[in-house]
Amino acid sequence: MTVSAAALEAYWMPFTANRDYKKKPRVIVGAKGHYYHTDDGRKVYDSFSGLWTSGIGHCHPKIVEAVQKQVATLDYSLGFQAGHDRVFELAEKVVALAPEPFTQIFFTNSGSESVDTALKIALAYHRARGEGHRTRLIGRERGYHGVNFGGMSVGGMSPNRKAFGSSLLPGVDHMRHTWDLEHNCKVRGLPAWGAHLADDLERLCALHDGGNIAAVIVDPVAGSTGVLPPPVGYLEKLRETCDRHGILLIFDEVITAFGRIGTAFGAQRFGVNPDIITMAKGLTNGVIPMGGVMVQEKIYQAFMQGPESAVELFHGYTYSGHPVAAAAGVAALNAYEEEGTFEQSRSLEAHFEEVLHSFDNHPLVKDVRNFGLMGSVEMESRPGAPGARGMEVHKKCFWEEDLVLRNGMDAIQFSPFLNSKPDDMTMTMEKIRKVMDGLD
Ligand code: PLP
Repeated sequence: MTVSAAALEAYWMPFTANRDYKKKPRVIVGAKGHYYHTDDGRKVYDSFSGLWTSGIGHCHPKIVEAVQKQVATLDYSLGFQAGHDRVFELAEKVVALAPEPFTQIFFTNSGSESVDTALKIALAYHRARGEGHRTRLIGRERGYHGVNFGGMSVGGMSPNRKAFGSSLLPGVDHMRHTWDLEHNCKVRGLPAWGAHLADDLERLCALHDGGNIAAVIVDPVAGSTGVLPPPVGYLEKLRETCDRHGILLIFDEVITAFGRIGTAFGAQRFGVNPDIITMAKGLTNGVIPMGGVMVQEKIYQAFMQGPESAVELFHGYTYSGHPVAAAAGVAALNAYEEEGTFEQSRSLEAHFEEVLHSFDNHPLVKDVRNFGLMGSVEMESRPGAPGARGMEVHKKCFWEEDLVLRNGMDAIQFSPFLNSKPDDMTMTMEKIRKVMDGLD
């Protein structure tokens, strides 16, 4: 093992069972294309393309080259009252990929920061228009919007909220999630049942008065909770309700942007335009941390008032628009275009759906869900030990099948490369099935 016991102990790992992991660490020391390299000399297939991040594979030569060049040219530049060429270039490129009404992007360093930035922009936008009383925020059960206070408050993943109960933001409500085994079991693609669940927003408008609500945030396809595709017509209904009450609609596209569901942004795939889009992950193919918040012209212009010499939004990060991250972003977007990544992703959907739903009749499986290149196979939990089966599959796949996968409790999640080989998708499922067949 390449990591010393002292080094292992020194690192408090995120979203990890630290003590269990450190008993037998799974250490990755390199990556290339679709594979990781482990410290015991193995090449293991990455079935999750990073953490929904690395759609066109690891260490993509063009992104590596761009990062190396940038770090040797301009390693850092202050971003407040100053700017550098690369970040303007990236902003123009992202906006060019977006649906027409989107005209500006604000850069952050992660999905969590993007979400909190988007919520702040929504509140400040209403205030700038003389509607500062619109302060209420609406999220959704099982939504994941990162781990900062805003995102955690509008998010709906109970384990993430549990320890912080009374410190969550006040004035937040949640719509119901859209998972319902009775109606939506093992559905392929978007469920036909469930659009009416968007009526929850109408109920919350009746309760609080829609005129007091600033924004509604949803992940168009909920990912981290185990992939919950929106019911047909659900997002359209949210849009209609928001329009009727003057509420901003935020799509958290940290996962769905940049080809994961076959288009640059999920908004385009669904034909529904929110007012604000958050992004991260695929923005740089995961190579350098970076996020963004893209807004429609009307939002940007609401801030461009008052003396021209005054700062319009007192918000930003030391590393907003970092030059090396921006260079990675430009190179990633160029690669997506040159390699036809979004189209390729779309063309892989049918095969992915087919191999994923080969689990429909597995005796341990209670649900299978998919949309785009996002999927989940959810196992029944072992009585009294929720999550145990999922973790067993994870570990056995790593040690015995040379496969890295991601599980959220007993749901195995799938985020295949956007340029996957179909045979590798098949191979991934075969290996997982072999392990699942051996579970009690
Ligand atoms: N929003 C969504 C929809 C996400 O899926 C994630 C992460 O998976 C986040 C926000 C948080 O992003 P980060 O981990 O980069 O802070």
